[in-house]
Amino acid sequence: MGACWGKILWIDLDTSTSQVEEISSHVYRQYLGGYGLGVKILLDNQPARIDPLGPDNILAFVPGLLSGTRTFFSGRYMVVGKSPLTGGWGDANSGGSLSPEIKACGCDGIFVRGCSQKPVYIHVTETTVEIKSAEHLWGLDTFETEDKLVAELGPGIKVATIGPGGENLALIAGIFNEKGRTAARSGLGAVMGAKKLKAIAIRGKKKVPVADPALLTRANKAIALPLQFNLHQVEKVIGDAAKTWVLPPLLRRRIDFKPTVKMVVSSLKEHGTGAATAISVESGDAPVRNWKGVGMVDFPWKYSSKISDKSTEPYVTKKYRCANCPLGCGALVSVNNGKYATKETHRPEYETAAVFGSNILNDNYEAIIKANDLCNRFGLDTISTGSVIAFAMECYERGIITAEDTGGIPLVWGNADSVIKLIEDIAYRQGLGELLADGVARASKILGHGSQEYAIH
Ligand code: SF4
Repeated sequence: MGACWGKILWIDLDTSTSQVEEISSHVYRQYLGGYGLGVKILLDNQPARIDPLGPDNILAFVPGLLSGTRTFFSGRYMVVGKSPLTGGWGDANSGGSLSPEIKACGCDGIFVRGCSQKPVYIHVTETTVEIKSAEHLWGLDTFETEDKLVAELGPGIKVATIGPGGENLALIAGIFNEKGRTAARSGLGAVMGAKKLKAIAIRGKKKVPVADPALLTRANKAIALPLQFNLHQVEKVIGDAAKTWVLPPLLRRRIDFKPTVKMVVSSLKEHGTGAATAISVESGDAPVRNWKGVGMVDFPWKYSSKISDKSTEPYVTKKYRCANCPLGCGALVSVNNGKYATKETHRPEYETAAVFGSNILNDNYEAIIKANDLCNRFGLDTISTGSVIAFAMECYERGIITAEDTGGIPLVWGNADSVIKLIEDIAYRQGLGELLADGVARASKILGHGSQEYAIH
């Protein structure tokens, strides 16, 4: 069978040992890779009712089934485990180029159980598995950790790491690779922190087997066809199509006119997922004012358009794409001057722009870039972080959280400076950050005073 190796790697941090388990081909046929393989292995091996932050929780890094082959859009990996945030199934996924590297080590997933007594990182190649001390990395942010490991292990090493958020067991912490590609959701960064696992560092050289290379090439061509268009071509297609209405119906029928798909594809290529932030706010899809607001009323176009599509262009320094992606929706951005100055960093995704934009009534895109960058460095999920801050703002407005609780920071709608400060406090569990670090549901339970009514989770 192509695309997989038929084996997974187990690492036990209690005993500092590793072993390989053979997986039969029918498991792949039934469950594929990624989440499917992850859930099958966890179901077979993980007892019920375990503590998600205890040694029995299995944390797994599982590439999609076709990752490591040339298949387009196959460059993502999944992280799975029991979520400490919800107490249920936890999963998150991330792009970049780490996923094919796991496959190039000759395994279809890395499954970690146990808890180390001291900080460690796992170094995997196609021939070796090492559990090494991470005492020198503990306390560093995700960017610093990646830089250190690349310096230590050599260029080409791929790193997935936690930041201070995960180390401090913030239940809204994620796992980060390539300084901003993020397996953000479910609080799995806290699971890594509880295991004292600072990072995994991967470098493989094995070529993933492909059963039918010619078929794969044909499939890739078919996938790539609708991606050939850029926005200007699409605009021309629309213009030309308009003209066709004056053409005889017989001729019109010969024109293949499917602008919607092409528009979506080309917008994604040009502006990333943030292409539709303003439209989402207007249409009621994006959260506004802690989910209570109405886009057209509370955050109308004159504001939402400042954090969406074309308004983000001046900050773009470079385009970015995950491994084997023919579309490339990513970009790097920077803010050169002012109080939100930020060195080159990943462009905020739509969800990030929404939670740090419309959901807190902030129309300053530079502040959103800064908030995104800080979350990436401190290792926090931007969606959960923005959401819990919006919740705190509503509680502040209603007098449930006071200036005394915030250390004098006015937590008013649109105050981006307070957001920047709170992100750090959440990562280090200091001040109000201690309350917010475990997400909206827990914060509202502790706060009481009717705050549950404003807790959207
Ligand atoms: S670059 Fe964008 S479209 Fe391509 S795989 Fe990554 S997230 Fe998906």
